[in-house]
Amino acid sequence: MTDRQDASHPLSTGTARLDHYMRDPEIMAEAERLLSGRTRDVRLKGRLAEAFRDRSWRQTAKIVRSWMVWVVVLDILTLTINMFLLPRSAALAMLAPGAVIAPAALAVALIWRKQRSDLILSSSLMIGMFIILLAVSLTGIAAGGEWHERYLNVMVFVAIAGITIFSVPQWQTLSIAVMALGLYLLFMLQNPRVEVLSTLSAFLFFASGVSATVVARRTMTILAHKAFLLELRDRRRLAELEEANGQLEELARIDPLTGVANRRWMTQMLDALWNTSEHRSASVAMLMCDIDEFKRLNDRRGHAEGDRCLVEVARIIASRVRRADYVARYGGEEFLVVLPEATERGALEVAERIRKNVEAAAIPNPGSRVAPVVTISIGVAVEPDDAERMTSEQLQSHADMALYFAKRAGRNRAELYKPKLLGLGKRAAPNVA
Ligand code: GH3
Ligand code: MG
Ligand code: MG
Repeated sequence: MTDRQDASHPLSTGTARLDHYMRDPEIMAEAERLLSGRTRDVRLKGRLAEAFRDRSWRQTAKIVRSWMVWVVVLDILTLTINMFLLPRSAALAMLAPGAVIAPAALAVALIWRKQRSDLILSSSLMIGMFIILLAVSLTGIAAGGEWHERYLNVMVFVAIAGITIFSVPQWQTLSIAVMALGLYLLFMLQNPRVEVLSTLSAFLFFASGVSATVVARRTMTILAHKAFLLELRDRRRLAELEEANGQLEELARIDPLTGVANRRWMTQMLDALWNTSEHRSASVAMLMCDIDEFKRLNDRRGHAEGDRCLVEVARIIASRVRRADYVARYGGEEFLVVLPEATERGALEVAERIRKNVEAAAIPNPGSRVAPVVTISIGVAVEPDDAERMTSEQLQSHADMALYFAKRAGRNRAELYKPKLLGLGKRAAPNVA
């Protein structure tokens, strides 16, 4: 058994497999080529044929199985009814060949329960059909008399039903047709009650009927192939559209320089967070982070180094928060961190962790009056849990004020917003330009 046939394979459901084939450029190119041509020229070959078989297998197998089960039921029913309605000798003669039909049909139904290799499936169907057609013929021959011809007619009818409903490759359809007509001719010629010419005429009649059925089956198969190609194309286009949408969404969400979210996304996030505020039990905290003396870094080391510093600082901030927290580049060298569930202590710890790690990264900032390396100031604001819920804008302005105070207090520090902070800040602010 190959991977493809293993039922435990992750791609074993029809549509998942289809997605797998749809990503193969060769298959898609061939599908497009066939779709651009005439319907009657549609022929599936190679991997495309394999994809079609995979896709239609369940349905084909279901039809084969239910047909075989019907054969079993009808066989048992006919043999039983014959026992009551036909002369005893004829009914008994029919029993032995008739009894072969049910097990043969049952065996095919059982084999077709699983998606086995094409060889096993097709040969079981061919052998099974041959045994069934032969057994039906022999049932009539065993009874003799009028049953001889009648059961050969039934046999051709059985074959025509199979040809019509089995959606199998054309060689199998043709094989069933040849088997039925061959058996008909062979056994009719042995029928003592019918003239040779009469047999030939009946044979030609059935041959034309069987041929018409084979052609109809072929048309149905081509239409099924075309429907499959269209489905493949639709799914492919849908997948491309989804991919493009995903990329667009990502572009609209991500800051291209640093790779963290942008301000627009953060605004949406805050709206969403505040809209579910009634369900929130914990307080939200905001950390407004601003790189110190960044203008001087740009001036001394150039804009490109400034950009690299932004990327590195963004990476440090993003790596120092939990998965549930949000980080966005909010302005030039400003980053906003939102902690959806935080206490004052927790928020300050996160801020301090970020600050220390930025400093420890030792990105040179020779012009800075704070330190020879890049440092960051952070304003921390936490929703008071006793007071009425504040808006996200209010909380953000508190974080801004705390940042302002951190800058005034000498930079390279994290400050927590306190209602009286600003007044204190003005008094305590050291002289940092
Ligand atoms: P402070 O310590 O008070 O924060 O001083 P600062 O120099 O960091 O602040 P200021 O707001 O004066 O300067 C911010 C600078 O950030 C100005 C601008 O040129 C620079 N900047 C903004 N966006 C970018 C960017 O995308 N890349 C680079 N390289 N620089 C940027
Ligand atoms: Mg700034
Ligand atoms: Mg700055």
